[in-house]
Amino acid sequence: MYIHCSDQELVLLKKIAAAAEALDMPSFLIGGFVRDKIIGRPTKDMDIVCIGDGIELAHAVAQQFNPKPVVHFFKNFGTAQIKLANIDLEFVGARKESYSQDSRNPVVLAGTLEDDQNRRDFTINALAISLNKANYGALIDPFNGISDIEHQVLQTPLDPNITFSDDPLRMMRAIRFASQLNFTIEEKTFAAILQNADRIKIVSGERIADELNKILCCKKPSVGFDLLYKSSLLKIIFPQMVELAGAEYIDGKGHKDNFYHTLQVVDNICAHTDDLWLRWAAVLHDIAKPATKKFEVGHGWTFHGHEVLGGRMVPKIFSQLKLPQNEKMKFVRKLVELHLRPISLTKDNITDAAIRRLLFDAGEDFDALMTLCSADITSKNKQKVKRFLENFEMVRVRCAEVEASDQLRNWQPPITGEMIMERFNLPPGRIIGDLKNAIREAILDGDIPNNYDAALDFMLKKAAELGL
Ligand code: ATP
Repeated sequence: MYIHCSDQELVLLKKIAAAAEALDMPSFLIGGFVRDKIIGRPTKDMDIVCIGDGIELAHAVAQQFNPKPVVHFFKNFGTAQIKLANIDLEFVGARKESYSQDSRNPVVLAGTLEDDQNRRDFTINALAISLNKANYGALIDPFNGISDIEHQVLQTPLDPNITFSDDPLRMMRAIRFASQLNFTIEEKTFAAILQNADRIKIVSGERIADELNKILCCKKPSVGFDLLYKSSLLKIIFPQMVELAGAEYIDGKGHKDNFYHTLQVVDNICAHTDDLWLRWAAVLHDIAKPATKKFEVGHGWTFHGHEVLGGRMVPKIFSQLKLPQNEKMKFVRKLVELHLRPISLTKDNITDAAIRRLLFDAGEDFDALMTLCSADITSKNKQKVKRFLENFEMVRVRCAEVEASDQLRNWQPPITGEMIMERFNLPPGRIIGDLKNAIREAILDGDIPNNYDAALDFMLKKAAELGL
């Protein structure tokens, strides 16, 4: 076997080979599994291409197991899947494709292994390994994919202009692989992305979101985002992010390039969290800077309110990028809105009330917020970075102290609306809300402790003032 497989994988490949031989159906391991094995990345998706009917082969492979696994098959696409404990098998007949101008879905005909390798997106994804008796385990590499792996280069097997024009999603895949594998995109291949960028418009938003998320899951997503920017794809799929790029100068005073600042923040945060949505918060934290930018004479550049406007922009951007409109979106919005708050608490003379308000507003997302704020420090001055981080550490310590005594992080009102209605025999109405708010404000301001007895006392006094 050209690649190094585990014992379990070798047993599996033998089963596939035996089933293929019994059907007299030449079969090959192909694509991502072969690539990742050679690179040494973990992989759990095995793609098998056969000269014949992939669904028939999948059923024959399933027969080799006891108990027999379920075969999921899709007649329209001629594909079948078998999900085993820690590996997924996918079977498909070798195919030849022809594309039309307005769709990335090709007309598909049965083809040879060579036809099938020709339709693959990158040379490193076109590597195949024979599962056939005559040359079991041999590598079939018609486009020098191995050499491209060695040189860490991405290029298409055929003319990149045709490859990208046929299926423009491949442009996003090129950039995603460059980001995941830390490979460079070969010059002509990159030029073809520039030339075909506009065709990304025929790709569904969901597929684009999938690739963006994969880029954001990389160790250094800045690689992918920068390539998206330089290839002009970003301008088409996410123009708000491109607006962040560049620095304007007035009276010799410039502001920082907020695009590259954002990329730095994203890379910083990736060293501390795998949470995709916290990573999205880093992408979006300054998104409203262009819209709020002003030059104030004697003062310089300001971006007043960019956190509030940025928060408001999040739902629209999530909808535009086909990201979920759910709790994840609310989390990102909240973090964008709050991302300046911990900084404001690093000044002197900060009251416990201000600390309490941050704990209350951030709630269970307090730690995520602090992670974002620490990642937001991108100064090149090491002394400054050290000082800012120490300041944040102080904020954390003070928050921990206040939290220990007041427990505000996941605050539940000690007196609920129902309790107020019952006590005064009142129907639902504004007065109930006013009393509840007054109790909350008194707790946050530190006028009363965060417990039932104090809140009840306070409520009775307040109610008396209101003549209840
Ligand atoms: P990952 O699992 O990280 O997405 P992969 O390369 O395994 O990477 P899949 O989407 O599972 O990606 O695709 C499996 C194989 O199918 C690829 O290695 C490639 O050979 C081929 N392939 C997938 N998408 C395309 C495409 N849009 N155009 C051409 N070939 C493709």
